[in-house]
Amino acid sequence: MKGVSAKVITAAILGGDCYPATPIGINLPNANWIRKEYGSKSVSIDNLSHAYDEAAKGNGFAEEFIIDEETRRRAEQYGTLCNDLHTDLHECAGHGSGKLLPGVSKDDLKEHGSCIEEARADLFGLYYLADPKLVELGLLPDNDAYKAGYYQQMMNGLMTQLVRIEPGKDIEEAHMRDRQLIANWVYQHAENQEVEIVERNGKHYLQINDYEGLRRLFGELLREIQRITSEGDYAAAKQMVETYGVKVNPELHQEILARYKKLNLAPYKGFVNPVYTLVTDENGTVTDVTIDYSEGYIEQHLRYSRNYSFLPDIN
Ligand SMILES: [Zn+2]
Repeated sequence: MKGVSAKVITAAILGGDCYPATPIGINLPNANWIRKEYGSKSVSIDNLSHAYDEAAKGNGFAEEFIIDEETRRRAEQYGTLCNDLHTDLHECAGHGSGKLLPGVSKDDLKEHGSCIEEARADLFGLYYLADPKLVELGLLPDNDAYKAGYYQQMMNGLMTQLVRIEPGKDIEEAHMRDRQLIANWVYQHAENQEVEIVERNGKHYLQINDYEGLRRLFGELLREIQRITSEGDYAAAKQMVETYGVKVNPELHQEILARYKKLNLAPYKGFVNPVYTLVTDENGTVTDVTIDYSEGYIEQHLRYSRNYSFLPDIN
């Protein structure tokens, strides 16, 4: 088909590079000319995002890092919904949109190309997440729900994603750079205290004072990121990424790591596949498939290597 399509699927089993840690969505093709001529396709794997959310419930993370009861309640109520919508907007309205000036190629931004492209897609998602149209369409319940998504993105970009970085290291991965770039740029440009980092009992928290103002800032940054992309402005891309996306504040980093460590959580998660067994009748015809979730992580890996390994153990 031609155009931009978005689908939601359920993963039944994970394999190859997607096992045991997996993406929660796929967006293809990568080549810009195919996107332009024929469109793109976005697939979200809903049961995996759902599993991540369920696994995160009650782990103490929200209590430790979200500033107050009201913000926590909103995150609990609308966080998952905002996340799902943001991902769809990121893929369809973000990656699926935008034009380059004649003669400009995506490769013009070189090593900063993927970070800028992810930032562009994220900003589309953020800006349109607060669009009243989403409420009108029934995708969000009311005009306040998007605030859960805004808080989540800002807190992650400014603070909590740092748990994945070792002390003293810079941010390298394109998505992580993009999230810090956005949050940090907005924070540095919040001249009317739209967003602040405040200290309470020796701990730092993100405080959002003006959500509509924050949306305007996302819009301003989106305009600039789109300009950089469309014009292939390498110097501006480099400046943007290196100023806002790479360096971490060492004191804040230390504090976040220490607070996170106390929660005893893993920074990445993986999955265990269910075991499917065919049920057959007396003629050998398959009548059903039973699903069993009781196999352990280690047992599963050992069984896979025993039964499916195609390399000899001894050469
Ligand atoms: Zn993306």
